[in-house]
Amino acid sequence: STTTETRKFEAEVAQVLHLVTHSLYSHKDVFLRELISNASDACDKLRFESLAQPELVAGDAELHIDLTWDPEARTVTIRDNGIGMSREDVVANLGTIASSGTRRYLEALSSEQKHDARLIGQFGVGFYSAFVVADKVTVLTRRAGTEASAGVKWESDGKGEYSLEAVELPERGTAIVLHLKADEDEFLKPWQLRSLITRYSDHVAFPIRLSKDEDGKPTEEWETINSASALWTKPKSEISDEDYIGFYKSLGTDFNDPLAWTHNRVEGNQSFTTLLYLPAQPPFDLMMGGRDERKGLKLYIKRVFIMDAAEELLPNYLRFVRGVVDADDLPLNVSREILQQNRQLEKIKAACVKRVLDLIERLARDEPEKFQTFYKAFGNTLKEGIAEDHANRERIAKLLRFASTKGEGSTQDVSFDDYIGRMAVGQDTIWYITADGYAAAAGSPQLEAFKAKGVEVLLMFDRIDEWMLGSLSEYDGKKLKNVAKGELPLDEADKQKQEEASKAAEPLLERIKSLLGDAVGDVKVSARLTDSPSCLALSDYEMAPHLARLLREAGQ
Ligand code: ADP
Ligand code: MG
Repeated sequence: STTTETRKFEAEVAQVLHLVTHSLYSHKDVFLRELISNASDACDKLRFESLAQPELVAGDAELHIDLTWDPEARTVTIRDNGIGMSREDVVANLGTIASSGTRRYLEALSSEQKHDARLIGQFGVGFYSAFVVADKVTVLTRRAGTEASAGVKWESDGKGEYSLEAVELPERGTAIVLHLKADEDEFLKPWQLRSLITRYSDHVAFPIRLSKDEDGKPTEEWETINSASALWTKPKSEISDEDYIGFYKSLGTDFNDPLAWTHNRVEGNQSFTTLLYLPAQPPFDLMMGGRDERKGLKLYIKRVFIMDAAEELLPNYLRFVRGVVDADDLPLNVSREILQQNRQLEKIKAACVKRVLDLIERLARDEPEKFQTFYKAFGNTLKEGIAEDHANRERIAKLLRFASTKGEGSTQDVSFDDYIGRMAVGQDTIWYITADGYAAAAGSPQLEAFKAKGVEVLLMFDRIDEWMLGSLSEYDGKKLKNVAKGELPLDEADKQKQEEASKAAEPLLERIKSLLGDAVGDVKVSARLTDSPSCLALSDYEMAPHLARLLREAGQ
């Protein structure tokens, strides 16, 4: 006899369920894509495990995803013959939120944001999107390689609890049965299911089959709906923009359109294909500065999915990139440990970096609006590359944009090259100022003499700038200098004036020095001011004032 056990969801799951059902209503179609994407992942995982254990797929080696509906019971079922789940898997995957990123995301959202479906789409609601259209969900699943008696039935109305039961299941894999809500009958129409599959899941690499219908009722026969090809293996000339966009969405990390992509095949003693995308918006974990979760860059070897390998394939500062890398010559039985020391992979990684930088450069050159979108979303992440990627430092620096005393307000659109192009004859320094914010930078008295002389100063006020500048002392042969540290070189006439002024002010300087005592290192007559009577300056080896303040705040 079987016993049914009832368990409570983890508190966060209940929260996600609430969020999802309330926010995704106008995007309710996504449930199908999410469930198909999970089924596809499950097939990928099984195919990979079967490389080492062929008996796992014995007798049922064609992996596929089946969709059917039942007009009487008012259910839609998505079934796959992939890896399946054990009882422990079910509890861990469907009863808790495994991802710490999701948790942080929930904590970070304000209450209005919680109703913004776009934000939710960015973190991928996954399995729980089933409850947008269903008031009860039944999962029947059995892990590949286990006995029929190891089947598990999970059921929930998506409120606070779920039930678990051991059941006999003749086949491995997972069936998700959606008991549709009262007003969701549209999903019982085969043409509707068909159109959703073609729209969202055409590029899933396994056949998605739909029951053939007779008068709206499913029959025993199946029809494959999607093109089920690995898109990246096709020649570029045969791939439309819609195909590329559709494929991006089928990666399942973002439901917005990508901003741009680059698709390349390298032939040679080491052949591989890369299809890499720039998202239009940062995923939330990037917004939160989270680094622990890097999903969305998949490694395939000869079309077989091996693993999510973002860390192995791209440096940290390009962690926003999504896509696939398919290598011809890596051993199929690679482990993560082997990958991390693989020399071939180093080459692939370098090629990926090059492709991504090429793509960003192309946007900067040919599509300024898209570049701005990119830069807003990921510019500060890119800056990490200045410190992280010495080999590409100059290329990355070329892509950076700043506000400037000759720019439009706080808009960050002046490049080092723009700056150099406007330099006066004889100027050999790129001047910048760092501060906590635009207003503090633009309003600083340090800028007065530069303004008076018409010398442009870049205004840097992102948190990461000061740190980045620690690794960037020059660009294109020009020194980068903080206006708080250096003086403008004076011409002869100025020099004389300055000397005279210093002499005349000597008694005053002595008096100020004695008044201020140890609070200052020195008091000088400066050419850096025109309107303000005085300002604080730094010697060459001192920290910028706001960095010093940051460190003080951090208790350093
Ligand atoms: P994600 O796919 O981003 O991991 P989901 O919420 O979509 O998150 O799914 C949660 C987990 O449930 C998956 O990671 C997987 O382990 C498990 N799962 C969901 N659907 C299936 C399935 N059809 N077969 C096997 N495991 C599944
Ligand atoms: Mg998923």
